[in-house]
Amino acid sequence: MTDRFETLAVHAGAEPDPHTGAVVPAIQMSATFKQDGVGGLRGGFEYGRSGNPTRLALEEAIAVLEGAAHGLAYASGLAATQNILYLLEPGERLLMSDDVYGGTWRLADRVWRRYGIETETLDLRDLDAVAAAFSGQRPPRMVWIETPSNPLLKVIDISAVARLAAVAGAVTVVDNTFATPYLQRPLELGADLVMHSATKYLGGHSDVIGGLIATRSDELAETLRFHQNAAGAVPSPFDCFLVMRGLRTLAVRMERASANALVLATWLAEHPAVERVHYPGLPDHPAAQLVERQMRLPGAMLSIELRGGEDGARRFAAATRLFTLAESLGAVESLIELPAPMTHASAAGSPLAVPGGLVRLSVGIEAVEDLRADLEAAFAAAAA
Ligand SMILES: *Cc1c(COP(=O)(O)O)cnc(C)c1O
Repeated sequence: MTDRFETLAVHAGAEPDPHTGAVVPAIQMSATFKQDGVGGLRGGFEYGRSGNPTRLALEEAIAVLEGAAHGLAYASGLAATQNILYLLEPGERLLMSDDVYGGTWRLADRVWRRYGIETETLDLRDLDAVAAAFSGQRPPRMVWIETPSNPLLKVIDISAVARLAAVAGAVTVVDNTFATPYLQRPLELGADLVMHSATKYLGGHSDVIGGLIATRSDELAETLRFHQNAAGAVPSPFDCFLVMRGLRTLAVRMERASANALVLATWLAEHPAVERVHYPGLPDHPAAQLVERQMRLPGAMLSIELRGGEDGARRFAAATRLFTLAESLGAVESLIELPAPMTHASAAGSPLAVPGGLVRLSVGIEAVEDLRADLEAAFAAAAA
């Protein structure tokens, strides 16, 4: 048909229904499917955990958008992560970037460690250190990249890390939640698996929890598909419908939110109350050239360190009106939060601990003048 993302986002997985002409995939709630004689499945559906038409539409859509051969949908981003960790055997090592999503670290460190998976964190921007990790006696079996990272917006060179991992026969996973396939396509850069919290930009409206995986490997897909059914953390058909609905506007939402974020980041970088801005789109970002190469746009997440420290940050985050003080990100509405006591609380005391005074902004698609005025008023209130 086309390989242009904007068109694919609207049409992938959403062919008009051949029977009714409906242009929206039906929400098929049936938990089981009639067989024409034992094993005589119509359309391959047997039981709702192993497969469902609405879920299949979403799985086809994410495969198309990530340039993959296979897509898999889960009940949450962490359920998708868990399914990826099932690829590891006890005694095998997992290498993770050192500021991954707090819940990813918690799952690896607090749950999977009990089953013999050894997780280590590393600053994956340091390619010499990555090369050393993979050339040791017992190299990691898997490397987990999150880029841009959360909440410090570090940017990791996906193709460089994937190349080093491949030499050791390790699986490269990219959590593509912050970028979405509109901004960054990890499989084209050599990653084996892409994982998403669909709760964020793909859903896009803060009204669904979901997770997705995409891969080009038949072998990995088969193992993932086995565990998707065997462990059962599948999404409801209604949740799949909501994520599909979100995907259709992904390109325009990402364009607008990224444009807003660039305006705000540029303004904040000059603001007297701000010590430091972390945003991949600023010319002084340490990986500005890599961002240019690896991403279509720098995205709509940014974090700031305030001169007023943690107390000032708390007052600031409590004083915004349009930016809602809440966890999560990636929706049409702008959100603000303090990672240390909120999203990254489980990282306290670990290698992933973040500065107490850090404020994270998820920039939405509102009028940027209103967002800037909201932040300006909050700076004034926090200083009073
Ligand atoms: C939210 C998030 C997750 C976890 O996804 P859930 O849908 O909340 O389970 C994983 N990675 C990143 C980057 C996230 O933002």
